[in-house]
Amino acid sequence: MSQHKYFTSLEKVPQISEEERALLDPVQEEFYFRTNTYYNSLINWDDPDDPLRKMVIPSVQEHDDGGLLDEYDEQSTVVVQGLQRKYYNQCSLLVASVCGATCRYCYRKRIFMEGANDEIAVDMGKIVAYLQQNPEVTCLVITGGDPLVLSAAKLKKFLQPLREVETIRHIRVSSKMVAFNPHKIIEDTEMLDVLESLRTPDKNVWVSAHITHPREITDVAVRAINLIHDRGISMMNNFPIVKGINDDPQVIAEIYNRMVELGIFNYYTYICSPTKGNVSCVIPVEKALEIQEQAKRLASGFSRTARLIMCTNTANIEVLGKSDGRIYFQFFHAREPQYDNAIFSLKSNPEACWFEDYEEVKNGECKQPLGQQV
Ligand code: SF4
Repeated sequence: MSQHKYFTSLEKVPQISEEERALLDPVQEEFYFRTNTYYNSLINWDDPDDPLRKMVIPSVQEHDDGGLLDEYDEQSTVVVQGLQRKYYNQCSLLVASVCGATCRYCYRKRIFMEGANDEIAVDMGKIVAYLQQNPEVTCLVITGGDPLVLSAAKLKKFLQPLREVETIRHIRVSSKMVAFNPHKIIEDTEMLDVLESLRTPDKNVWVSAHITHPREITDVAVRAINLIHDRGISMMNNFPIVKGINDDPQVIAEIYNRMVELGIFNYYTYICSPTKGNVSCVIPVEKALEIQEQAKRLASGFSRTARLIMCTNTANIEVLGKSDGRIYFQFFHAREPQYDNAIFSLKSNPEACWFEDYEEVKNGECKQPLGQQV
């Protein structure tokens, strides 16, 4: 098993001075911290603004951030413990309350806190029964936390029962382990056996990689990606645009291009969702759109497939573009099927970091008519 060690205390990170740690102690008391020797080895510790450092090392601003821990009220979408149903045809199955490291921008920081285990699936029998009784749910995202942190045996306990559900057509395992600790993927061949066993001749399994910066694509990460592909498992990538980490068109274009070179589909790039403890990471919606548009211009043709997505508590909404003082959106995936693909526009607000920050949106509802005409 991987020799790379995990740390859950800044005291164990020798590159952090005592002075800095004293400043960060209140943050690590409030929000979970985790990193590992592999990811730490990628950080340029001489640069206080190194993007990979910002990915995992807390900042004092986290402590000052307002907002709620469950800003998007995910709890209200729980249909069986561990199973969230945000969209009419898709559920998320939460199987782990830990990740290879903790992204400081994470919008699910609550999941790593003490007592949050009640969000993780326990009774796969009930979950399978729910999915069988709701055949309109055809997509399942296996998430957490990070499912690939688990041992092969634990992962199997969650995943194997899903093969009984005929109506689940697409399974996506959401994991940042290719970036955070690819050695786990390389060395844990049983875990790859479990993933492979989920495939049937006509039903594939996807792993979404969450590569957020090109420097995460090391030779070891490439080996892990190739091993996943060798098992016939397809891969996609989705990641947020995060202040100080990748809010640069060149950096994002490089991720898009590298993904295509590695046979990974650029699925979506999302607006970092503001929640308690990550507000300082958030880029305004229209700034993110500008960055994404420039990145696409810089990326090669095949690499331009990623959509810019804002995840609200009732839908995933694609940010389409801006023109004549209005910003255009399209429902990509809605809780209510009648909204799917509906297009609408709102008065531009360059400061808006979230849907609710737009004048015409109140209580999550848009006052503009929804439809194909804008
Ligand atoms: S990998 Fe995902 S769930 Fe884990 S800390 Fe990062 S954003 Fe959160």
